[in-house]
Amino acid sequence: MTQRIPCKSEGCAATILPRTAAKTGGYCMPCHQEQERRKRQAYIKKHRKTVDLYEGLNDPVEILKIMHAPRRYDPLIEYIPYPLSKEQIYVSLSPGEAASLKDYAMHLLASGDEETSQEILSSLVCYRNDSIAGCLPILMENGVYYPGILYKDAAPDIRDRLLEQAEWDDDNRNHILVALAWIGDEQVIHRFHEWRMNPPQWAGQLYVAPELYAQEAGWKLLDSGGRQDLVHEHSYAVESMEGHRVPGAHEAAVKLLRQGTSDCPWCSGKLTTLIEVDTAHSVLAKLNLSLDRLQVDTCVICGCYDVIYMELDADGVPSWSGYNRKPDHMPVVDMEEYSDEYLRVGLELTISNNPRSAFYAAIWELSQHGSQLGGHPSWVQDAEYPACPCCGQSMFFIGQLDWSDIEKYGEGIYYMFVCPRDRLTATTYQQS
Ligand SMILES: [Zn+2]
Ligand SMILES: [Zn+2]
Ligand SMILES: [Zn+2]
Repeated sequence: MTQRIPCKSEGCAATILPRTAAKTGGYCMPCHQEQERRKRQAYIKKHRKTVDLYEGLNDPVEILKIMHAPRRYDPLIEYIPYPLSKEQIYVSLSPGEAASLKDYAMHLLASGDEETSQEILSSLVCYRNDSIAGCLPILMENGVYYPGILYKDAAPDIRDRLLEQAEWDDDNRNHILVALAWIGDEQVIHRFHEWRMNPPQWAGQLYVAPELYAQEAGWKLLDSGGRQDLVHEHSYAVESMEGHRVPGAHEAAVKLLRQGTSDCPWCSGKLTTLIEVDTAHSVLAKLNLSLDRLQVDTCVICGCYDVIYMELDADGVPSWSGYNRKPDHMPVVDMEEYSDEYLRVGLELTISNNPRSAFYAAIWELSQHGSQLGGHPSWVQDAEYPACPCCGQSMFFIGQLDWSDIEKYGEGIYYMFVCPRDRLTATTYQQS
């Protein structure tokens, strides 16, 4: 038997084989690796350079080009971040600046950088609601059909080409149907209706019927063949007041993330009011809710596992719906594991007074601050508008809270819906 020797580190009780000791200078593997790590850190600290890629730059177009440029991680370089986010710069671009970025995106596409090109075009479409209709013939030539939202302002000839191509292009059909859903005009609605009445042969290759692609773009094909929008045309960002809480009319108009009054029958924790807002708010005004306030409650724990419906009484007070069905896959909840930090954060949150593009958060991968009232949802997975358990109709999207905006290590999004007719709210949840 080989004699084991003690590790040389002070306070380390490990013993090692002579063979290991010869390799590490007498240290056990964990101690040796720790020493190596420290050496590397010291080297990096000594040799790291601070680089400001934006030094002396004022042109927002040039700044965005740098932000979009792929950058390889180098531990010896510390990049100074630009004081504004990409979104903030996009929103503040002049029409001329936006146009030159559009040209730049097309130049990137021509030179083979499809990914960055898509990112820039998506940003122009989502953050600014700019039309990129002029770029679409070239996107089609290059076989770029994704993300479908890029096609939302397509000219009739592009729409017709897509309608035709959907019939034979097995490889791109999925993306083409999403693009058509985003166009969503009379012709598309008509064709979706035809496909529902006489399902084409290729429909069998899809996961859902062709007309259900409409949900990806926030609408639904009615039984009558018409279009019903499931989202509001403006998005109002959830913002932090950062200590500038001004009590008064504005604060009273909306409350976010408050502890509810009743308990969750599934986990026995307290329910949470995700939002409580005046029904006079422009996102809700057209819904004819016959209530002064709309309150959306859910269980933030159980709500990650299934839809949670709440029924509102004549005064808008929510109660747990008898339609809720506890999912079989729900684990036993240990309340200790959950922080209620969000309740403190909620006190600092409000809804912006200024509407932003309805599409601002429509591409989840793009969005940084997806929490909003109104607008298009940021679907992490496929679009999923719950059906109202009373009337069977798709419920209307009223907003979402992105947990990464709320807690430092938070993830996933809670989506909120209402059926105005039955005074029922629903929440769903998706995460990557
Ligand atoms: Zn050791
Ligand atoms: Zn619960
Ligand atoms: Zn209903």
